[in-house]
Amino acid sequence: MGNKGYFPDSKLFRPAREFFHYKRSLITLAVLIVFLSAAAIWNAYGLHRATKEVTSVYVSDVSLQLADDIDHRLGTILQNLQMLEDNLQSIEDYSDPQAVRQLFESKAKLLDFNSLVLVDLDGNIYSSHPIQNDFLNLPGVQASMRGDNSVSFLDGQSIAYSVPFYKDGTIVGVLAGVRDKQNMQNLIQPSSFSGQGLTCITDCDGQVIISPTNLDPFLQLDDIFMQNSDNSVVQNIQKMQSDMKNHLDGTFSFTAVDGTELILSYYTLDSLEWVLLTLIPADLISAQTSVYVAQTFLIIGSIILLFVGILLLSARIYRIHYRQLEQAAFLDPVTGRNNNAAFQLRCRQLLRDAPPNTYTVALVNIKNFKLINENFGSQRGNEVLRAVLHLLWEAITPQETAARADADNFYLCLRENDPQKIRDRLRRMTEAVSQTQQAAGFPYPLILQQGAYIVEDPTLDVRIIQDRAKTACRSRTSLEDGQCIFYDAVYTQKMQREYELNALFEDSLKHGDFRVFLQPKVWVESGTVGGAEALVRWFHPQLGTISPSDFIPIFEQNGKICRLDLFVFEQVCKTLRRWMQEGRAVFPISVNLSRQHFKNPDTLHQFQQIAQQYQIPTSLLELELTESIFFDDQGIEHVKEQIDEMHRMGFQCSLDDFGAGYSSLGLLMEFDVDSVKLDRRFFLDVTRPKTRDVVASITQLSKKIGAYTVAEGIETPEQLEFLRSTRGDMVQGYIYSKPLDIPEFEEWVREHTLDPEA
Ligand code: C2E
Ligand code: CA
Ligand code: CA
Repeated sequence: MGNKGYFPDSKLFRPAREFFHYKRSLITLAVLIVFLSAAAIWNAYGLHRATKEVTSVYVSDVSLQLADDIDHRLGTILQNLQMLEDNLQSIEDYSDPQAVRQLFESKAKLLDFNSLVLVDLDGNIYSSHPIQNDFLNLPGVQASMRGDNSVSFLDGQSIAYSVPFYKDGTIVGVLAGVRDKQNMQNLIQPSSFSGQGLTCITDCDGQVIISPTNLDPFLQLDDIFMQNSDNSVVQNIQKMQSDMKNHLDGTFSFTAVDGTELILSYYTLDSLEWVLLTLIPADLISAQTSVYVAQTFLIIGSIILLFVGILLLSARIYRIHYRQLEQAAFLDPVTGRNNNAAFQLRCRQLLRDAPPNTYTVALVNIKNFKLINENFGSQRGNEVLRAVLHLLWEAITPQETAARADADNFYLCLRENDPQKIRDRLRRMTEAVSQTQQAAGFPYPLILQQGAYIVEDPTLDVRIIQDRAKTACRSRTSLEDGQCIFYDAVYTQKMQREYELNALFEDSLKHGDFRVFLQPKVWVESGTVGGAEALVRWFHPQLGTISPSDFIPIFEQNGKICRLDLFVFEQVCKTLRRWMQEGRAVFPISVNLSRQHFKNPDTLHQFQQIAQQYQIPTSLLELELTESIFFDDQGIEHVKEQIDEMHRMGFQCSLDDFGAGYSSLGLLMEFDVDSVKLDRRFFLDVTRPKTRDVVASITQLSKKIGAYTVAEGIETPEQLEFLRSTRGDMVQGYIYSKPLDIPEFEEWVREHTLDPEA
């Protein structure tokens, strides 16, 4: 079938405005997320930098603390040695090595030394425990010989703390205490750096004196220094070397060859010319914060993911709802295809870009569909509706559309503007429907009534376009059932006029806009007034004079004519009453009786009552029945009875417009009328011999049944002469007078009674 704007395959429905808003909000949200993420990253970077600074301050603090500790410790040890040195001054005799060793042993124990050693200038060694021979050559011992407190390494495992030994103000030797280097190592292995840092003590030249366990890390440190070609690092190292010589402290950071960032601090120990070096990774603290930052990023990421998930979910729910709404709004439950709303929408789309007279909208209606429902049930009826729409769809192109609007009304929007082509296409569709239904065993051929409007003005509201197709379809007569009728503007104007006149009727009746005119009927023989016909006139204050031929047919359709006829009849009775009261001559006045009256059995009584009310003898009142009434549904018998009833009530009865339609002479024999009014078309050409024969025989026949004749529409002396020769009884026509209002009519009668020849 292709895409014919058929719901639900088509792009029939443009995304709603809200959808664009939704899209815009999504983009805004995405931009916001990106922006916030960038802000978060920048923030994290700031935090990292701040923690790095904090780390460096921390390293300085801890190193300073440690240096103080070491200083303090060294100072205490050396002080203790000095105090001991004071004590030992009293020992005069070192000749008893046994006594000296015992004394030293007890003092060493007291001061927590492994051994206590005294070396004199001669190289004699007195010690609590055996000691290595070259003890004298230790740099620290040598320094103490020169008067300094000092510390030296002993066989790489112990540390010897030494002070000068005085006698009478002169250095006579060196007193030294030896301890495991472990003691000092424990001190410089700071727990504060959670084992990640390295600390060592060097001399001013950077020679390692004490390191925690072994010297390997510091050898690597040397490598780092040596390999690093970074200018700033080289400068920093040079600065450190000069600082160390000048007993200054400092801190700097650098990136090792393996990429780790390190912080190096150096502190001079006050008690000795040593330097405390501390090396720790820069991320010692930031490593921990980095974990939190990473976790925060993870949480933010999860929230964003969740958020995106919720958005996608809601978009999906939105789409599902949108689709359901679409179905509710645009799907016809009976046929399962487009409903009228969908048709209008699609039609709008098609017409929007099309030039005038490109498309035609047609209405197709199943004739007597009600009967199908009644005889076969509504289920079968629905099947027929489905089948019809299906076949219509089969017959249209993707640039066209179709729908069932309501009941058995189908609309088509065809890309066609040639009436003949449209008729042909619709005829083929009708044939297809009929054949399909017959093939399906449906007993009646389906007749599709069609009306179409070639869309000259594509900007019109689709509903108006549909209305025009419908109007065209309704204007169809039953003879035109199978063929398409095209909308014609004159027809709608007529409809509008009808609507307008109907709306004005009540008010006009109340306000006396309807007036009765009288047209005299004159005896052919004598030329005297024999009666008059009452004819209604409508003078509307806004619309002006409205002709009876405009409004009588309209009011006949809806029964308003009965009220109007009664009004005319009453006016006639009123007039007659006044004439009688004024002592004027009276003659029969005829009023026209619409066929509508015969639908109401009470009508004649109403006329009778009015006549009684004004005390008018019914013999003065004539009721004109138009001849076409005898062909109405009511049947000849009914009309006959009514005529009999009129006569019983005493009314005269005349047969109006005889010869205007399908009148037959037979009619005259059937009905007991008092007069026959010959239609004016008999007298249009009085020179034709055939006319004379026809009129003469009707006149004769009328006389036979006891009725007189009234010739209508006589305008010329020739016509009048013709009547005389055919022995017509009465004349009603412009030759004597047009219909006149009552004062004019009275004036006319006065003139013609005084001078009948005038
Ligand atoms: P109708 O009953 O055949 O009335 C005669 C019509 O012929 C009147 O038209 C009248 O003005 C016109 N006529 C009379 N003499 C001549 C003439 O010499 N030449 C020409 N050309 N025309 C002439 P009108 O008044 O326009 O009425 C038209 C029709 O409207 C009437 O035809 C009648 O059928 C209907 N009608 C008028 N008044 C009433 C009414 O009160 N009730 C009903 N039911 N129908 C009425
Ligand atoms: Ca008449
Ligand atoms: Ca007539």
